[in-house]
Amino acid sequence: QKEEWAKLVNEPSVTMDSHQVELAANIGTPDDMEGVLANGAEGIGLYRTEFLYMGRSELPSEEEQFKAYKSVLEQMDGKPVVIRTLDIGGDKDLPYLDLPKEMNPFLGFRALRLCLEETDMFRTQLRALLRASAFGTLKIMFPMVATVEEVREAKAILQNVKEELVKEGKDVSDNVEVGIMVEIPATAVAADIFAKEVDFFSIGTNDLIQYTLAADRMSEKVAHLYQPYHPAILRLVKNVIDAAHKEGKWAGMCGEMAGEQTAVPLLTGLGLDEFSMSATSVLPARSQLRQLSKQETEQLAKEAVQLSTADEVAQLVKDKGFIVS
Ligand code: PEP
Ligand code: MG
Repeated sequence: QKEEWAKLVNEPSVTMDSHQVELAANIGTPDDMEGVLANGAEGIGLYRTEFLYMGRSELPSEEEQFKAYKSVLEQMDGKPVVIRTLDIGGDKDLPYLDLPKEMNPFLGFRALRLCLEETDMFRTQLRALLRASAFGTLKIMFPMVATVEEVREAKAILQNVKEELVKEGKDVSDNVEVGIMVEIPATAVAADIFAKEVDFFSIGTNDLIQYTLAADRMSEKVAHLYQPYHPAILRLVKNVIDAAHKEGKWAGMCGEMAGEQTAVPLLTGLGLDEFSMSATSVLPARSQLRQLSKQETEQLAKEAVQLSTADEVAQLVKDKGFIVS
């Protein structure tokens, strides 16, 4: 099987009836690029930048960040690279920031919420990102968005930073798409409103599932409630994709779910444009996708969203022969 997959490194991610999607990879540092290139990912769908900030005693400088972002963009050679702004807080602490101790850190002061207050830190990252944009196809993504005001505020800061760089005579791309993670149920439900404010969505199912089912993604005791195939999740995902398409925008997914064998046919049927996963999942997903018919996956998705339980959904995908091994 591995040999079969290896043959697909340079093949397109396309169904039997010619529906093409993008299979992208998630990375944490530029060191992950080797695996990305070896596995034929067509883009980076999520660069988690928090690792630049962790395991040290002070904030990373603009220059240090610029080098990391530029390196990834150059190695992708013009293919799309979605870089997420700092998503710290929750389970990931930064001792040197002196963040407040909270009862519910996952519902607290984290990610974009923090960046919109620590604006110096945020602006430094945005400067590094925009400077790197001259070296490839950069897309900037904001995490943990709950309201349209947050999107507008973040975009205004980005615009201001861009003007500052242009004034300094720095080279900045004019084609940087700006998108958001959809990982809070409010954002998924109101996706039609958000779709007017951004260039793309990336569905963060790791968090979206835990918030929608109120089941901590780390807790073993409630792991049975953490259900990617719960009909509510499928319906939210469908709502997000449909809302994006209505505005002529694209929708991706960068949570673990995107690379799962059960999910690939369902998400294809729901019309997902970009699937971002660990690099080692890209070739198996491409192999599976190339044996699918888009039309059949659409029928599958239609039936799946009407089922009552996650088990029924998974069973349907199996019964219809969409799981290869
Ligand atoms: C997610 O929430 O699905 C996601 C991709 O982000 P993280 O796992 O970094 O929270
Ligand atoms: Mg998340």
